Amino acid sequence: MPSTNRFRSNALLSLSALVILGLCSSHLRTNAQTSRPEPIKPSNAQLIDPNIERRVNDLLRTMTLEEKIGQLVQYSASEAPKTEPTTAALNVNPPGPGGIDSYQLAESGKLGSMLNTVGQQLTNHFQHAAVDHTRLHIPLLFGADVIHGFRTIFPVPLATASSWDPDLITSLAHMAAVEAKTAGVNWFYSPMVDIARDARWGRCTEGAGEDPYLGAAIARAYIRGYQGESLAAADSVAASVKHFAAYGAAEAGREYNTTDMSEIRLRQIYLPPYKAAIEAGAATVMSAFNALNGVPASANPFLLKTILRREWGFDGPVVSDYTAVMELEHHGIAIDGASAATKALNAGVDIDMMSHLYDAQLLALVESRRVSLATIDEAVRRVLRLKLALGLFEHPFTKGPEVTNAVADHRPLARRGAQESFVLLKNADVGEAPLLPLSSGKKIALVGPLADDSADMVGAWSGANNFGDVVTLRAALQQHAQQNGGSVVYTQGTEISGNSDAGFAEAVAAARNADVVVLALGESSAMSGEAASRAHLDLPGNQQSLMEAIAATGKPVALLVFSGRPLVLDWAASHVPAIMEVWFPGVEAGPAIVETLFGDVLPNGKLTMSFPRAVGQEPLYYSQFPTGRPEQFPDPKRPGPVETKYVSKYLDVPNTALFPFGHGLSYTTFAYSDVKVSVPAVSVHALTSDQKAHPVHATATVTNTGHRRGTEIVQCYVRVLGASVEQPVRTLKGFTRLTLDSGASKSVDFPLGFDELSFFNVDNRPVVEPASYTVWIGGSSTADQSAEFEIAATAPSR
Ligand code: BGC
Repeated sequence: MPSTNRFRSNALLSLSALVILGLCSSHLRTNAQTSRPEPIKPSNAQLIDPNIERRVNDLLRTMTLEEKIGQLVQYSASEAPKTEPTTAALNVNPPGPGGIDSYQLAESGKLGSMLNTVGQQLTNHFQHAAVDHTRLHIPLLFGADVIHGFRTIFPVPLATASSWDPDLITSLAHMAAVEAKTAGVNWFYSPMVDIARDARWGRCTEGAGEDPYLGAAIARAYIRGYQGESLAAADSVAASVKHFAAYGAAEAGREYNTTDMSEIRLRQIYLPPYKAAIEAGAATVMSAFNALNGVPASANPFLLKTILRREWGFDGPVVSDYTAVMELEHHGIAIDGASAATKALNAGVDIDMMSHLYDAQLLALVESRRVSLATIDEAVRRVLRLKLALGLFEHPFTKGPEVTNAVADHRPLARRGAQESFVLLKNADVGEAPLLPLSSGKKIALVGPLADDSADMVGAWSGANNFGDVVTLRAALQQHAQQNGGSVVYTQGTEISGNSDAGFAEAVAAARNADVVVLALGESSAMSGEAASRAHLDLPGNQQSLMEAIAATGKPVALLVFSGRPLVLDWAASHVPAIMEVWFPGVEAGPAIVETLFGDVLPNGKLTMSFPRAVGQEPLYYSQFPTGRPEQFPDPKRPGPVETKYVSKYLDVPNTALFPFGHGLSYTTFAYSDVKVSVPAVSVHALTSDQKAHPVHATATVTNTGHRRGTEIVQCYVRVLGASVEQPVRTLKGFTRLTLDSGASKSVDFPLGFDELSFFNVDNRPVVEPASYTVWIGGSSTADQSAEFEIAATAPSR
């Protein structure tokens, strides 16, 4: 909302808060304590280093207005004349409007940065234009959508999030930075940290899923991996946290759609991962396409100034999403290019990506005083800080060997990334034992359109990949049979989205002749990612029919699901003994899957998005808010749940997820016991006086009850009852990965303090209040062992 409105609504809010406080002297409200306002610290000290500020000031004093505006302009290389070296194949996005010649802009100092322009030859070519031919020799930034690997493509982010392993994600992110840096890229449009609670939204594949706590941990992991200790390091790139903000809440899961929510929900659910990334030092932010509560995010001073700059102390530049400045006209808040540019820049969008508006409009807007010189200077300052912090003035060009293919030395990490991301959804007994792992020496029928499809192993935003680098499941399975015995008969069965059943008979025959069927079904890469919303979440095409035909043979089926989002797998869940979600696993798809199928490694991933029973349940997430009519309606007069129609439920499916958040099996099993809290009560004061303290510890014993050494992702959930604002039925507040030998036990400890126990009150402030807390520790969001404690208004007596 515009700053004036924001001020007014704050004033109204405070007034109503006063009235409420005056009218009801609620015990709870008056005992609530908010966090003490902290002085704003710069989010990344490197950006405002005094030496850098001095050099920025010197430049700003020297620059003409045209040169300043140039720093705020971004185009891709596709605008360059065709005679120049081109990597058109690597440009993910179509050419921008206006027949812009970006090379010519670069050599006249009218271009500050480029997007999706990769490769040493190409980036150096443009960099020479900027550095050698312009008066002030200011280098260009090269930003690119390196989302899950540069050349060595690893699994899509929703997949790696299922590892719940921030260190692994840091290593993968760093590997991408190392590779891309050799090709002149110094800025990643990643991580995407949008909370996604609706599987219809295709971009859920690019993020960490539905939970803010996990999302924040993973956001920090990416920033560490991309930026390392120093932006100036040879193997560091600047990160761009995107898409700010709440893009993942698009109504009905429809891409680019509007979002509307309370400020409490914004702050409690959607903002934490962005905030975590900023606190971890993220150098840049990308503003989102969507409107939030009626104000497009790319012209939203509440988001970009009040929250990002003032509350979070962000000192880096904000880049618009692709043509998002121009799209302010489509949103209807700008009536022409001039008003779009004015609103975006004045709101805090420093760089215009591809709209052709800052370059076309800002000069006149400054002259007509619709945009102040101070605003331009502030935006340019942020861009120059980044260029200086990256060391671009000292090292503008890229030298040395360029990574042009998947790197052999990087494949083991990509394979591990894939294996940690697999989620074993179901593994029922076939005869005496669970179907998986398979034993060697079997006759395997490998069926399905994803079994030998290298292009669809890499997922959306697969950067500068070469499909030839991918090892498919078919290739890896055949190699396994050659080395370990057994046989593989491959048949595609059907297309990903076709309707022909011409291949069914061959597939059914192969299944009949086999001991076991490995069924490789799912989506194509293009079915998730940007502009890939789906209203149906079933297996596309006639893959469901193929699966039913194969299952009818009575042969045991291990279903591998390749997808960028949760799918509806209800039929499979009741008819197929084993189901493993393998997402889009990247270049090491085949070996990663085969080693897991045969038990050389154990699957241990856990879902970070709920898998629905039916698409009509979406948006579906475990951390639901309560209702006055819960599905299990308690009747105080009669013990036990009462059957009644008038509760919050569907007539045709249960409310629960088919496979809930946090769910995932392994080839061993884990049991939980002794869930306890360290104290029965803690005071509000103890939590607020030192917000870094953890006066409560929740503990449990975890035992590996199976026959294999394995890793469990232990999760800690919290519920608050009796607070001034209703809180979700449970919320993740801790997790850890625990590796145990068969039969071994270990105790886990989750420290709980202000950050874990606070929530946002009606004044949009984080608070703890006197209230009752329940803590669950277990292996999924349906963990059933709990302990309780109180937050008391005063220090509990001993
Ligand atoms: C996407 C961004 C991406 C940008 C640049 C946009 O369409 O929303 O995520 O970074 O294009 O390619």
